Amino acid sequence: MNQLLDAALRTGTPSIDLRMDDEPELPEAFHTLRENPWRAAVTISEGCSRQCAFCVVPQTRGRERNRDSGKIIREVEDLVARGNIEIVLLGQTVNSYRDPLRREFRFADLLNRLSEIRGLERIRFASPHPSDFTDALLEVMICRPQICNHIHLPLQSGSSRILSAMKRGYNRDQYLRTAGKIKAASRPIALSTDIIVGYPGETEADFGIRSRCSIRYNMTTFSRSNIRRGPTLRL
Ligand code: SF4
Repeated sequence: MNQLLDAALRTGTPSIDLRMDDEPELPEAFHTLRENPWRAAVTISEGCSRQCAFCVVPQTRGRERNRDSGKIIREVEDLVARGNIEIVLLGQTVNSYRDPLRREFRFADLLNRLSEIRGLERIRFASPHPSDFTDALLEVMICRPQICNHIHLPLQSGSSRILSAMKRGYNRDQYLRTAGKIKAASRPIALSTDIIVGYPGETEADFGIRSRCSIRYNMTTFSRSNIRRGPTLRL
């Protein structure tokens, strides 16, 4: 990855390499093109170790790799020193973050630590996975006003049967429990979601279950599932 970025910076033209690397490197900050002087995106992890049936990320970006928290904190401190007041932490399942050197240091700890940086006014993150959404994460969002009070929590389907076919790793009740805690939090937190409509095998009954999910979202994005022939989806 870093060699590709080096080549692109050197030549000014896009670089493409379609080979799959078993241990791909994590992109480091000096490769990031940042044009907004106030708001900067900071990658904290790459790839995904989940296996959702509809997603190519694990095949194209490899398993999840996390950056050292020390490097992330130094990068954010440097961005703030250069005038950025808002950062967006990025990862495919950003809230599954664990420091590779200190496994007990998790996403909530990282948010907590970043909230202590003087001059950093807003922290956002994208996108969390429902199964990795912990009480500790909700607690730090309630206590730290610098963390923007919005969570995008992809539901994908309200039917446990379809969620299982999608290999999402949670069922309807587990999702509703997490969403309910967010909605009941002492600090108002906006909730948005993604939903896939017409997933292979979805019946009218599954559709009806989804529409009876009792969560009021502030924003919902719907995607229509593509009907594909081939080996990708076997239900
Ligand atoms: S958790 Fe997200 S990135 Fe990972 S496989 Fe599922 S949809 Fe893809």
